[in-house]
Amino acid sequence: REHDPDQLLADLNPQQREAVVHGGSPLLVVAGAGSGKTKVLTHRIAYLLAARGAHPGEIMAITFTNKAAVEMKERVTDLVGPRARSMWVSTFHSMCVRVLRREAETVRELLAGTSSDPRLNSNFSIYDADDAKRMVTLVARDLELDSKRYPVRTLAAEVSNLKNELLTPADAAERAGNDLERKVADVYASYQRRLADSNALDFDDLIMRTVQLLRAYPEVAEHYRRRFRHVMVDEYQDTNHAQYALVRELVGTRDSGGVEPAELCVVGDADQSIYAFRGATIRNIEEFERDYPQARTILLEQNYRSTQTILSAANAVIRGNTGRRDKRLWSEAGEGEPVVGYVADNEHDEAAFVAGEIDRLVDDGEATFNDIAVFYRTNNQSRVFEEVFIRRGLPYRVIGGVRFYERREVRDVLAYLRVLDNPEDTVNLRRILNVPKRGIGDRAQAVVSVYAEQERISFAAALRRAAGEGLPGLNTRAQRAISGFVALLDELREAVAQSDVADVIETLLERTGYRGELEASDDPQDAGRVENLTELITVAREFSEMRAPSEETSAGESEDVDAAVLPDGSLSAFLERVSLVADADSLPDSEEGMITLMTLHTAKGLEFPVVFSTGWEDGVFPHMRALGEPAELAEERRLAYVGITRARRRLYLSRALMRSAWGQPMTNPASRFLGEVPEDLLRWRRSEAERSAPQVRSSGSRGGGGFDRGSGGAGNGRSSAQSFKDSVAIKLAVGDRVNHDKYGLGTVLTTEGEGARATATIDFGASGTVRLMLIGSVPLTKL
Ligand code: ATP
Ligand code: MG
Repeated sequence: REHDPDQLLADLNPQQREAVVHGGSPLLVVAGAGSGKTKVLTHRIAYLLAARGAHPGEIMAITFTNKAAVEMKERVTDLVGPRARSMWVSTFHSMCVRVLRREAETVRELLAGTSSDPRLNSNFSIYDADDAKRMVTLVARDLELDSKRYPVRTLAAEVSNLKNELLTPADAAERAGNDLERKVADVYASYQRRLADSNALDFDDLIMRTVQLLRAYPEVAEHYRRRFRHVMVDEYQDTNHAQYALVRELVGTRDSGGVEPAELCVVGDADQSIYAFRGATIRNIEEFERDYPQARTILLEQNYRSTQTILSAANAVIRGNTGRRDKRLWSEAGEGEPVVGYVADNEHDEAAFVAGEIDRLVDDGEATFNDIAVFYRTNNQSRVFEEVFIRRGLPYRVIGGVRFYERREVRDVLAYLRVLDNPEDTVNLRRILNVPKRGIGDRAQAVVSVYAEQERISFAAALRRAAGEGLPGLNTRAQRAISGFVALLDELREAVAQSDVADVIETLLERTGYRGELEASDDPQDAGRVENLTELITVAREFSEMRAPSEETSAGESEDVDAAVLPDGSLSAFLERVSLVADADSLPDSEEGMITLMTLHTAKGLEFPVVFSTGWEDGVFPHMRALGEPAELAEERRLAYVGITRARRRLYLSRALMRSAWGQPMTNPASRFLGEVPEDLLRWRRSEAERSAPQVRSSGSRGGGGFDRGSGGAGNGRSSAQSFKDSVAIKLAVGDRVNHDKYGLGTVLTTEGEGARATATIDFGASGTVRLMLIGSVPLTKL
């Protein structure tokens, strides 16, 4: 039951069609936002199946989020029917997990030759960024590193960079040219040893280990090359070096012997590269033709997403970046509405404006809640919108933020599950050791940890020994507590063997006393925690019931690779799924009627009829960190381009004159990006000039007395201006030494502006950061 290939090509433009039917040599599709790159990939897959005789099992497509993977699979299924299900459509990380679980034996062999202990088995845990940071904290403490000079965040980021460059601890040690690099190399080595001890891999390892595996074992590489004859990558501009190498290994070259190279098709847009901080490099796009000598490049120029006004605004902003290829992106959608600008008194006023406007659009039938998205630069900006939306009864969902899986209680329970699944998992074991409190204090933990180090055994093994014969330096009370804990874990492991995940969670909440403690508490937050745990049980139940009945593949097409490596419904399978949920994945599918709140980063690849992009202030967006850093500023500008180009019909850009930061109101100048949007595309609903006339906007007129936040009075514009004035006491000059409550000692490098508009660039030494701050509006004293 094949579909008509001509049908697949019918609604594509000539360039898109060319990209879809192109066969043989590697293909790069570069094009601006909304030009149909993702659509080309989807149609290309469908075309391969319908017209070129490819089997679904020969196709591997890589997307940026799991959500995008699901969507792509659904689209292809719509086009060619259910046999599309046996394709591998996934993120880089999910794909690597799949390979590594299958090849764990070989990976173990691979690791045996390195400093890492070969203890990895196919049941390995996946450590996310948070777990990784905890682990680095432990390592840094062991190595007695001064946390001021070597902040954990820096160490963790440096280790991650090394992995993204595919450098081993030995490489790092050899290259280290200064003190920091030497320390980082030490941390890296001992961090990897600890990961191996815990039978764990972090996110960067997933990619690095897969590359190493394919390179060291040609027969393994050849197996995958025989299988995957078509490799496709979306958002190629956000791949890092390790991911580039992985694609190369998967595709193979003429010289790699055995098999002809697979057909490769990548799509991307250098102007949308926003993950440099994770090692992504547009080099991979720019050098594609050099990396793959026979490569074809196809450019797409028509945008099908946005009105011409929105596109012109995006083009004008991105033009501020130097060293880029200018693209002529055009749209047939017509001029459309002007971009609406709004200058708010403060963040509450901004949120009220957004809420009021949403109300109006929905009342007038111009949009549904589902059509509307609100973007901000950092997650913490969501709270104010949430407050206003709740007050007004507007339905919304927040993507990212304090995500469900990041909440403390959820992480605690997951930590228990991870330890039950993988007894050697040190980070999680230490997390739950004394949660809820059971008398295994820091002292006892330190004794066990030191003993493990001395004896070169894992923390878990040391703990068992402590529970059995005790350890030198461990008092009897602690020893008894540890014995009880170890016995409890054994008992829970029994439960794992006998019941499904949801029941295991019930049992552990009961037996550990975790739920009891929360229920007995009179802190209202704890009630919320109980609800979250109930939610987690629901997630686990759904998971057990799911057991993939949809995964039936037509006979003959399923290969051994498709066989689920982890038994359906098992604890390991559950934990794996939970570990791999990326930000954008918490988007529930086609839920009716909700406004979507998310960061600009999370919005990549998506589109909405109506977009409110908020917080266009220097120091907020562009982010404080980027000011005075040309490379980071260029990345922020690309983020602006991504944000603007998500909008299909209507775009709102807003900023607030004052915004609380560190608990104090802070004035922010307009974002430089806002000034780059041509005035003739903008219609100011409220401009700065209008707003500087005294505004008597009582909060009462907005329903619900929204802006008053108690006696502090930092609520509405007027009172925060008042408290602001009171606090403007310092005048800074170049060379002044200052002390900031949060960042510590610094030296003033430059100053600009007067009074309430005064700014200064300050060098806060230790981490080498240079920040632009508004004098008087931050907790800063002159020394
Ligand atoms: P981004 O850079 O943001 O990832 P993209 O280049 O991947 O964007 P798509 O998301 O594939 O673009 O397409 C943008 C919108 O344009 C989608 O709604 C898509 O369905 C539509 N579209 C793409 N090509 C065509 C076409 N030839 N005819 C009609 N609509 C199209
Ligand atoms: Mg896309």
